[in-house]
Formats: sequence, C-alpha cells, structure tokens
Amino acid sequence: MKKIIVAIDGHSSCGKSTMARKLASRSGYTYIDTGAMYRAVTLFAIQNGLFDGDSIDTATLEAEIPGIRITFRPEPDGHQTTLLNGADVEHEIRGMEVSSKVSPIAALGFVRTAMVNLQREMGLQKGIVMDGRDIGTVVYPDAELKIFVTASDTVRAQRRFDELTAKGTRTTYEEVLENVRQRDYIDSHREIAPLRPADDAIILDNSNLTIAQQDEWLYDRFLEAIGQTNPLT
Ligand code: C5P
Repeated sequence: MKKIIVAIDGHSSCGKSTMARKLASRSGYTYIDTGAMYRAVTLFAIQNGLFDGDSIDTATLEAEIPGIRITFRPEPDGHQTTLLNGADVEHEIRGMEVSSKVSPIAALGFVRTAMVNLQREMGLQKGIVMDGRDIGTVVYPDAELKIFVTASDTVRAQRRFDELTAKGTRTTYEEVLENVRQRDYIDSHREIAPLRPADDAIILDNSNLTIAQQDEWLYDRFLEAIGQTNPLT
C-alpha cells in the first residue's frame, strides 16, 4: 500500500499530538512531534545559561547547534521519549519554564533550518505523521494529507491546565491561558515560517469534539488520502 506523509499543524495545545499519535498507531506510521524538538533546543539553551532574562545568546546557540542531538525513543505504550544528547528530557521539556521560552527560540532562523533539515531526513521513507506549526507549509509542502487544527484559546488553556495538573505540575489556569495566547501571537507573527494553514489544508475546529470523534474524523481523512474507505462508516 502506498505510504504518505500526514502533516498536522495548528495552534498550541489543541490536541494535535494526541490525534497524530493515535493515527500513527492505527496506521502503523511513525509519529514525529516537532514541537518536542524546539522544546529540546530551548532546554539546551536554559541548561547552558544562554538566557539572560528575555535575551538569548544567539551567537553561542548558533555555534552549538550542529552538536545538539535530538532523538526519540519509542515506548511500548505508543508514546515517545525525547532525548537530548542521549538524556531523557521528556518531563522537563513539557514544564512551564520551557513553554514560556520556546517560541522565541523557535523564531530563530538558524534553529528552524537545523530542525527542518532533521525533520525532512526523518520522513525520507514516508509513512509518517508529523505535527507542528509549519509542516504543511514549509517542511513538507507536498504532503499528501494536511490538517490544520484549532480550537478557542480558553478551551485549549483548560485542556493544557488539566493535563499539567494531572502530571503534578503546579500552575494556574490564568498562567496557562496567558502562555497559550503569547505562543499563538509569537508563532503567527514571526518572520520565518509563521503559523498559518497551508492553502490546501483541511481545517478542523475541535472545540466541541471528543477525542474519539476527532480520531474517527482524522482516520476517515487518512483513508480518503490513501484511496480507501472506512468499512465502519
Ligand atoms: O507543539 P508544541 O506546543 O509542543 O510546540 C512548542 C513550540 O514550538 C510552539 O509554540 C512553537 O513556538 C514551536 N514550534 C514551531 N514549529 C513547529 C513545532 C513547534 O515553531 N513545527
């Protein structure tokens, strides 16, 4: 059966990774979380003292970036663990400190070039579901299936807040909402690869959908893209 590339872009915390991971496990494809890659670079910058308040030592980061190794280790439950130079950083990259610093890091041209090159290498064999902000517009403009996911910022903040508190992270709904809005703004207004739907993307507003409903919706779009139909619908 022909393998395709599925590009899932959209706003922060709108459930892209949940739906992308589910589709990957159902189709036997590889899931790639590109947000985790930008988060890992951000953690590297924090760990190496490259932030001074809001300003970033971009010269040092640019010199270091060829030596930063970001890989994924698949786990038996279908999740992936992000490794930064071989160390498990999965928990740390999801915290509020990285979340509050990642968008300025992801706006740097040399960071994007390095990550996009890595992402293209990962998809050489096709058979991938990749989620991010610029997958359908920049990384894989020829992807066979492009989805752009959105939901209201309050719904997204609530989902993210619930997820963080379930993991034991101490935060407030207001702090999470502020972070979601700030990332939306920076991601959509940056000069390089701003967040926007590709002209040929299918838009999904999942504000009022359950996870099961969005998974079915996505699986139907996937079957259409590979030229099959769902026997159950
Ligand atoms: O998807 P996630 O929320 O983990 O992404 C974290 C941040 O990484 C985003 O807010 C965005 O600034 C950046 N990002 C990006 N391009 C991607 C994926 C993520 O700029 N393809």
